[in-house]
Amino acid sequence: MSWVTVIWSMAAGVALALAALQLLVWLRDRAAIAHLVFSVAAVAAAVIAGQELALMHARTPAEYAEILRWWHVSAAAIVIAIVWFVRFYLGTGRLWLAWLITLLRGLILLANFLVYPNATFAEIHRLREVSWLGESLTAPVGDQTPWRNLIHLSMLLLVVYVLDAANTARKQGKHRPALTLAAGILLAVALAAVTSDLMVRGVLPGPLVALVFLVIVAAMAVELSVDLVRARQLARELHESRERMRLAAQAADLGLWEWDVVEDRIWANEVIDARVGISGTKPMGLKDYLALVHPEDRERMEAAIRRTITEGVELNEEYRLTGLNASEHWIDARGRVEYDDRRQPLRLRGVSADITARKRLEDEAQRHRNQLARAQRVLALGQLSSVVAHELNQPIGAILRNAEAGENFLRRDPPDLDEVREILADIRKDDQRAAAVIGRMRSLLQSGPLRTEAIAPRELAEQAAATLETEIRARDAALSIAAPAELPKVRGDRIHLQQVLINLLLNSVDASSNAPERQRHIALQATRSDNDKVVFSVEDNGEGFEPDRLSDLFVPYYTTKADGIGLGLSISKTIVEAHGGSIHAENTASGGARVWFSLPVAEEEIAA
Ligand code: ADP
Repeated sequence: MSWVTVIWSMAAGVALALAALQLLVWLRDRAAIAHLVFSVAAVAAAVIAGQELALMHARTPAEYAEILRWWHVSAAAIVIAIVWFVRFYLGTGRLWLAWLITLLRGLILLANFLVYPNATFAEIHRLREVSWLGESLTAPVGDQTPWRNLIHLSMLLLVVYVLDAANTARKQGKHRPALTLAAGILLAVALAAVTSDLMVRGVLPGPLVALVFLVIVAAMAVELSVDLVRARQLARELHESRERMRLAAQAADLGLWEWDVVEDRIWANEVIDARVGISGTKPMGLKDYLALVHPEDRERMEAAIRRTITEGVELNEEYRLTGLNASEHWIDARGRVEYDDRRQPLRLRGVSADITARKRLEDEAQRHRNQLARAQRVLALGQLSSVVAHELNQPIGAILRNAEAGENFLRRDPPDLDEVREILADIRKDDQRAAAVIGRMRSLLQSGPLRTEAIAPRELAEQAAATLETEIRARDAALSIAAPAELPKVRGDRIHLQQVLINLLLNSVDASSNAPERQRHIALQATRSDNDKVVFSVEDNGEGFEPDRLSDLFVPYYTTKADGIGLGLSISKTIVEAHGGSIHAENTASGGARVWFSLPVAEEEIAA
């Protein structure tokens, strides 16, 4: 076999092999258009190799002209494929220039089939024998057509287009691919210009484009292969980082999950699978998952997910999950949504932690707080028992006196029934007063979780003052209340908040008992602050706090009283903070004490 046949067949073989390889890549990843375009270019290069082999062995000018005509189809395919490869691969290059070159090559092809014999020669006079690589081949002798100028123009535009695209790609940081492609394509175009000119002049037997374009095909193949190698490397790194993430999540007992919004499919890691009690790979949708959420939390959870998706806010919810294995867990889930270009939600991704243990501790702490508050109320009631006795004494004494008077009226002849009726009404009233005193004491003794309601500050202040009215009077102190009726309501547990005010008032009563009788004054005040808070303050003109012990006031068991237990202020702090407020104490300029605490205004009042 001759050298020429060997070299050109090898060129065709290499091109076809590369074409097949890249076609396979494209078949597995249809988005990788550059690989498909490369295959087209490589197939065209293989075809051209065959056509050139035939050209060099043509026997008549007509045969040469006919083969060259079809050669132009392959050449156009290569040029157009290069243009679009650059565009898809580098993602740069001016679109209008790409279309212009494509159209120009189309136009040249049209002319190629309309004029005789082809777009290169106006006429081939004869074939000349050329000795090349030890073989006798044929070279054409003839006149060129003006269409060749258009071919030159299209190649010039290709050079400009590639230089421009490579320059933009370089600026975007794609240095290596820009350089390889630009160098390969420009070298090939320059070589092609020289060899085809030598063919037209009858020096070379064929345009030798098959070999020249092999340079470009090689440049393109190098780039795509580098990509493949890098993709493998990235895949390995991704796998490793996934594995590290999996281990870390497992060690931290952290659930990782992702909800594909479009396909309605949930992916979750092993931590969640174990928690939910699923084994196997049965795909789950959102509805399937929500079915596992505790019925009381389900609606809230679904609403939170919808809000996250529509408004793009972060998901941050705590809910109870009932696993398929009937185990109940408290879950803290956080997640973020990802949108496509048209702001359609694609997926919701996040982490979830099992906070069952924390929740249990919180419940226990709350139970302890309630128990402590109750114990303190019992103690406070001990202090109040003399007050109770005093308050009950009065209505019970009145009932006794009225009953005696009634008996007297009944003894008369005829009995004065109208008087008796009035007396009975009085007895009923006194009885109701006694019942109210007992009722108030009982409600203070009740314990249980916070039962919140919207309460008017004025009502709260007046009820607390009513409970202590007799005590305050007995100690010769004067209480003034300033709580405007128009203050917004606060949200809270009536009994607990009353307890706080009672504690503060009792402290003030104790403190002011050392002051001279005429000056024992306590002021209870409620004011609005920062628009969303109401501040209650209790001020007295007693001896004030010990200045260097101010920080101990709210510490349990701190007391300076002989019969004190030191729980009043610490319990008050616990109650106020459980309501979302804060409590403070200071000495007043006049030497007395002032304790004040804030409570959040009920939400409905802020909206109003
Ligand atoms: P207790 O009243 O049983 O001592 P508290 O926690 O209510 O417990 O109060 C702790 C301490 O704070 C009191 O012993 C007292 O020294 C001080 N204190 C509280 N209120 C006042 C007040 N209005 N004036 C002066 N000292 C006060």
